[in-house]
Amino acid sequence: ISVSDLVNESYKRINEVDEKVGAFLTLNEENARAYAKELDDALETRDEFGLLFGMPIGIKDNIVTRGLRTTCASKILENFDPIYDATVVEQLKQAETVTIGKLNMDEFAMGSSNENSGYKLTKNPWDLERVPGGSSGGSAAAVAAGEVPFSLGSDTGGSIRQPASFCGVVGLKPTYGRVSRFGLVAFASSLDQIGPITRTVEDNAFLLQAISGVDEMDSTSANVDVPDFLSALTGDVKGLKIAVPKEYLGEGVNEEVKQSVLNALKVLEGLGATWEEVSLPHSKYALATYYLLSSSEASANLSRFDGVRYGYRTDNAENLLDLYMQSRAEGFGNEVKRRIMLGTFALSSGYYDAYYKKAQKVRTLIKKDFDDVFEKYDVIIGPTTPTPAFKIGENVKDPLTMYANDILTIPVNLAGVPGISIPCGQANGLPLGLQIIGKHFDESTVYRVAHAFE
Ligand code: GLN
Repeated sequence: ISVSDLVNESYKRINEVDEKVGAFLTLNEENARAYAKELDDALETRDEFGLLFGMPIGIKDNIVTRGLRTTCASKILENFDPIYDATVVEQLKQAETVTIGKLNMDEFAMGSSNENSGYKLTKNPWDLERVPGGSSGGSAAAVAAGEVPFSLGSDTGGSIRQPASFCGVVGLKPTYGRVSRFGLVAFASSLDQIGPITRTVEDNAFLLQAISGVDEMDSTSANVDVPDFLSALTGDVKGLKIAVPKEYLGEGVNEEVKQSVLNALKVLEGLGATWEEVSLPHSKYALATYYLLSSSEASANLSRFDGVRYGYRTDNAENLLDLYMQSRAEGFGNEVKRRIMLGTFALSSGYYDAYYKKAQKVRTLIKKDFDDVFEKYDVIIGPTTPTPAFKIGENVKDPLTMYANDILTIPVNLAGVPGISIPCGQANGLPLGLQIIGKHFDESTVYRVAHAFE
C-alpha cells in the first residue's frame, strides 16, 4: 500500500463522516496529496525513512503551520496564515508524516466540550448528541471516527486526556518540558503541553518519540535524554507499585467509572503489580488554583491579539484605543472574555497577593503531594473523568459544572508530571478512560502500564 492510498483513505473517510462529526476546521488536501506522491517516489529511490513515514496526521488548530490557516477556533484569528512552523510540526516533517488538516477545539483551548469553538460544534462519534470533550475535541473525535490514525492535541488542564477518554482513544500529556511549545499558541504557558492522540498505546509512543526533545526556541523545554519509548512496551508490570488516590474515587465520581478503574486494577494485579490507596490531600484546591493561575497567564498571553499585528480588526474604530477594544470585543468569544477578566482581576494590584501569589503557593503543595506519593510508588492510577461524555448543551449554562469536569486531570498539569488516558470499558455504550500518571520524565513507565491492557 502506498502513501497516496493512506492519504486517499483519510480524505475519503473525512468526506463520509466529517459533515456529521465536525472534527476538521481546515483541510490541507492539495498539499497532502502532492506530498504523498513525493513520499511514494522516495519509496523507490531511498533506503532510509522517517519514523512515521507516510502516516496521515491531524493537528489541533492552536499549533502553527506555515501557510496553513491556524485560527485557535477563534474569530480573532479567522484570517491568520502563519509564516513559520511550530517545532513539533518541523519534527513531524522529519518523521515524514502527512498533514491532513487542522482540527477543531474550544477557542484558545478554553473549555471541556468543544462548545466554545468560534466556528462549529464537534460531535462525539460514539453518540452524535454528546460532546467529544475538549479542548482537543476535534483531535480525539478525528481519531475515534477513523479520519486520521494520529493527531496532536494540547493539554493545559486535561485537554488531551479528557477528550481521549470521552472518545475512547489514547491521549498522553507529556511531562512539562518534554515537548517544545514553540509555535503552540499560548494559553497558560506554565501548564501547556502538546501531546499525541492515537488509537493504540504503541502508536502513541511512536508519535511522542517523534516530537520529544529539547528545543532552543523554547526555554522551558528540558534538556533531558529522550529514551526509546517503544522499548518500554513489554507488557511486563510485575512488581510494579501502584498508588490509587482516594480523592480520585470519591464523591462526584460515577459508580460505573469507579468500577471500571477497580476492574483495571484487578487486571494489573493479575499481572503481578500491587496497589494501595493513598492520599493527595491538596486535590480539593486544584480546581481553584488552576483557574486562578491559568486565567492569569491567559490574560497576559492573549494581550497580543490587539487587532493591529495580525488577525481580526474591527471596521468601526474611531481611534487607536477604540480599535483595540472593539477588535477584542468582536473577536473573542464569551468564555475567552470570562477568563481574561478573571485573570486581569487576579493579577491586579491589591489582589495579586491574595489570589495569584496564594495560588502559586498552593500549586507547590499540590506538586509536593505527587512527589511524596512517587517516593514509594511507580505510578498513580485513577479515572480520567468523573463521568462519561455528557450531552451537547448540558453544561454550557453553568461554567462551574463544566470546570469540574477536569478535576482529575488538572492536578497533573499543576504538578508537571505525565499522564495518559486509555480506553477502559464502557457505560451505557459510552467509552470510559483510565488515567495513568507517572513521575517526571517517566513516560516510559506510563506507557508500560498502559500497554499491559493491549
Ligand atoms: N477544560 C480546561 C479549561 O477549560 C482545560 C483546558 C485545556 O487543557 N486546554 O481550562
